[in-house]
Amino acid sequence: MGTSTIAIIGSGFSGLSAASILAKEGHTVTIYEKNDQAGGRARTWSKDGFHFDMGPSWYWMPDVFENFYALFGKTAADFYTLKRLDPSYRVYWANKELTDVPAGMPQLKALFETLEPGASANLDTFLHQAEYKYTTGMGDFVFRPSHSILEYVDLKLISASFRLQLYTSLRKHVGSFFKHPKIVKILEFPVLFLGGTAKTTPALYSLMNYADLALGTWYPMGGMNEIVKAMVSIAESNGVKIVLNAEVRHIRVKDGIAQGLETDKGFQQADVIISSADYQFTDQHLLDKPYQSYTSEYWNSRVLSPSSLLFYIGVNKR
Ligand SMILES: Cc1cc2nc3c(=O)[nH]c(=O)nc-3n(C[C@H](O)[C@H](O)[C@H](O)COP(=O)(O)OP(=O)(O)OC[C@H]3O[C@@H](n4cnc5c(N)ncnc54)[C@H](O)[C@@H]3O)c2cc1C
Repeated sequence: MGTSTIAIIGSGFSGLSAASILAKEGHTVTIYEKNDQAGGRARTWSKDGFHFDMGPSWYWMPDVFENFYALFGKTAADFYTLKRLDPSYRVYWANKELTDVPAGMPQLKALFETLEPGASANLDTFLHQAEYKYTTGMGDFVFRPSHSILEYVDLKLISASFRLQLYTSLRKHVGSFFKHPKIVKILEFPVLFLGGTAKTTPALYSLMNYADLALGTWYPMGGMNEIVKAMVSIAESNGVKIVLNAEVRHIRVKDGIAQGLETDKGFQQADVIISSADYQFTDQHLLDKPYQSYTSEYWNSRVLSPSSLLFYIGVNKR
């Protein structure tokens, strides 16, 4: 691809990161965002002096953020102060009991041991396997674009796939190490972030337990939107133009080639279009039928990740 004019739909983490990388390669990149601020699901809302992060609150896998910043000669510390939380989080059980999950490994092992004798030693083995999955799985599987099964036809990957436990469920895997229901719940919960359940998610994703219990839960001081600000600043310093309040209504395609975006601000020509809006929405609402990847019957037959109803509650007391 020579130097192209690229239009990106959406300014969430994915739109901002794609835009920055492409702009750095010399392309002319414009993001069209329907909201009045960048950030997508990680945007903010202010009311009566209260400020809310509207979406994410768990900063996991800090190395993934560092990998991104390093592409631009930066580090997270150039933009915000990261604090490791201790306890990492608090679990509210149905019977009103509470469990604080400590950041320190000795304290975590002690907690597990009080719940189930022998669980401390099992946690070592469980996390050792999870660490292998995190390093190999993230590098060789999660970061592949998954355009084709052929990407995975590689002897090293096929043999690794057994060790990574792609063919057994996380529920079975956790159950083979631990019996206490509280431990099982603590270890099964992180796959919620993948929109799945432990029963339907491959045991590969115990890599999430490594991210949770070994790498820790962090917080960017000032709030999660600090990440958005950092990514906007990287995008803009690489020449990305971000057009806010611009809703894309249609991707215009002629003879199989995308021509540009029809927005509520008029037509925007582009050689290449990237949509970072939800896949189903882009496929079914922005593209004409001949260019859709799937039929509406197909989409209706799929179970999409759950949505949520959120209440933003401001409290002016400690
Ligand atoms: C309540 C909640 C809690 C979460 N908690 C966590 C967490 O703790 N940790 C974590 O890592 N992740 C968490 N996530 C997930 C994380 O926030 C998302 O994965 C991430 O923000 C998605 O980024 P994205 O760029 O893929 O999509 P989005 O953020 O959805 O970005 C898509 C953008 O496209 C724009 N757009 C859509 N349609 C159009 C159109 N027609 N024209 C113009 N613009 C358009 C949207 O306005 C949006 O800005 C949470 C998500 C939610 C909702």
